[in-house]
Amino acid sequence: MTQIRPLVAGNWKMNGLKCAASEVLAIRDRLSTAEFNPEADVLICPPVTLIATLSDLIADTSISLGGQDCHGEISGAHTGDISAEMLADAGASAVIVGHSERRTDHGERDKDIYLKTLAVHRAGLMAIICIGETEAERRAGQTLDVVKRQLHGSLPTSALVINTVIAYEPIWAIGTGLTPTVDDIAEVHGMIRQELAAIVDSASAEQMRLLYGGSVKLSNAAELMAIENVNGALVGGASLQAESFLGIIAAYISDQT
Ligand code: PEP
Repeated sequence: MTQIRPLVAGNWKMNGLKCAASEVLAIRDRLSTAEFNPEADVLICPPVTLIATLSDLIADTSISLGGQDCHGEISGAHTGDISAEMLADAGASAVIVGHSERRTDHGERDKDIYLKTLAVHRAGLMAIICIGETEAERRAGQTLDVVKRQLHGSLPTSALVINTVIAYEPIWAIGTGLTPTVDDIAEVHGMIRQELAAIVDSASAEQMRLLYGGSVKLSNAAELMAIENVNGALVGGASLQAESFLGIIAAYISDQT
């Protein structure tokens, strides 16, 4: 089986003014050194206001940029919304869809995420589909059922390994410093890997990247990234500073793990 190339993605959420470009420059400069050569792709999802500017800064580097959400349509009367085509035009190559903060703050449901994912694919970009259970659902023993339902409801059967990534993000772990146990993450990721076979083509089911997200930081990155079927991380808070984000990316430098 071909090795899955991991992805470390930073979600800046609603953080970052123009001056935050200095963090991206620091990441760029470090990644261009011979001694810092991770075996992973690096993606930064800044606020949409920064994508075009940052895209000039990272041109000809291995860093990619992504949006944090998009509308399902190409254009039209949708004040305040952004289409996947607009994100592509600004320099993005990926879009996060279905983040739990979108699901909670904007009432997005699986069928909305499904349509947004198709829109991301239509624009030729890669969708990072977020799924994950609440604390109450975990306590009630519903984690696997909830994640399975979200996966089936959000992932189009046409999704391919090259244009789709799944991010398992337990909601109670986001921004709290809490993480599931290694066994719990392995169980959920194993289930997702298995379920993919019933949704997408077999090559995509085997190779699609499954990210873990929720309080990934320097101190736990190596342990979390070593879990079976964890093919990278979606990082919130710790992606805002170059040093902490680079520390997580370093989990994928072979002589440091
Ligand atoms: C996120 O919001 O996607 C996330 C994983 O946040 P944090 O890393 O801060 O928990």
